[in-house]
Amino acid sequence: MNRMQLSAAFCVLALAVIAEPSGDRPDFTHAWAVHDVNRPDPVKITAEEGKIPSDAIVLFDGTEKSVLENWVDASGEPTKWTVRDGEFVCAPGSGPALTKEWFEDCQLHIEWKAPLDDPDGFGNSGVLFFDAQYEIQILDSYGITPSKSPFKPANYADGQAGAVYGQNPCLVNPARKPGEWQSFDIVFHPPFYEGERLVDPGSFTVFFNGVLVQDNWKLEGTTGWCTRPGPHAKGGAKPLALQDHGNPVPFRNIWIRRIPSRYAETTCGGPGVKCADVAALRSKLAAQSLAAANATDDPAERFIRLWESFAYEPSDEVRELIGPASLALKAAEQSGDERVNERERHAALERFMKMLIRQGYIEESENFLEMRY
Ligand code: MG
Repeated sequence: MNRMQLSAAFCVLALAVIAEPSGDRPDFTHAWAVHDVNRPDPVKITAEEGKIPSDAIVLFDGTEKSVLENWVDASGEPTKWTVRDGEFVCAPGSGPALTKEWFEDCQLHIEWKAPLDDPDGFGNSGVLFFDAQYEIQILDSYGITPSKSPFKPANYADGQAGAVYGQNPCLVNPARKPGEWQSFDIVFHPPFYEGERLVDPGSFTVFFNGVLVQDNWKLEGTTGWCTRPGPHAKGGAKPLALQDHGNPVPFRNIWIRRIPSRYAETTCGGPGVKCADVAALRSKLAAQSLAAANATDDPAERFIRLWESFAYEPSDEVRELIGPASLALKAAEQSGDERVNERERHAALERFMKMLIRQGYIEESENFLEMRY
């Protein structure tokens, strides 16, 4: 590499960082602009084909150890459910198996099968959420035929596998035969209160053997046999449980992920938005952008950072700085300063200028950039 190439390479490196223009501006219910480059990225996890997501808690992996570590009976003693050939099997009469850890909003993966040697029980069990207040039913629901007989009411629709028990049947029935493994992937949100006021009754979304069977079903209340829903549950995290309904139902591959409440994020435009929190975050972001503007001698970056600060929180102080920054940018453009005239940077500045015009920050006639790209 000769000196000229070296100098060109250095130039490209030095010019690499410039904020991209963003979309619609922040407002009372959105701290961030649309496509805001300053918005934090989601936490990176790994989710390889056929493997458990790296942030999941494994509740059963086929071993006795995972049972001892994760499951107890209703009195907190080791569960009497057994591990047989890598399967976690209900011990009829011993009561439910409860997780030691307690959960609120969560995503659960669980596999189960209706036993072949349980012709009368239909493999009844269930996934019990929030200290057994809500059940997603487990049952052999493969050979369902509509029953016209009043003497054989066992296969009612709101009690088949994948039903929100007693409330909502599955959208379709993707059940497999007894003896075949089946899966549930369940997203559970418990009721959400502000003080005593119920803001959200909570919901279930369920994929049964990969098929959507509960589509964000809003809970009517707690679930129960032969009864309309009870009052909505209250309180924080509670155990997850597997039901003992007297049938030796086997389970495998059980893992769970904690997920944030839809009401935990108060600075986005979602259901939990709080205008005061949005204003506070916008104020903080405005200060950060102003500090970044004042820390750089790059006229392009200073221009963008000042406008960014103004978009987060319009202030007279920043507005007054934008005038001189615009003049400095124009002067840099006219003097051939690469920090403004390098092709990608100039194109980005043009997009930024168009965004300012489109969103009404400035008039079209106030554009001072030479539009080239
Ligand atoms: Mg059940």
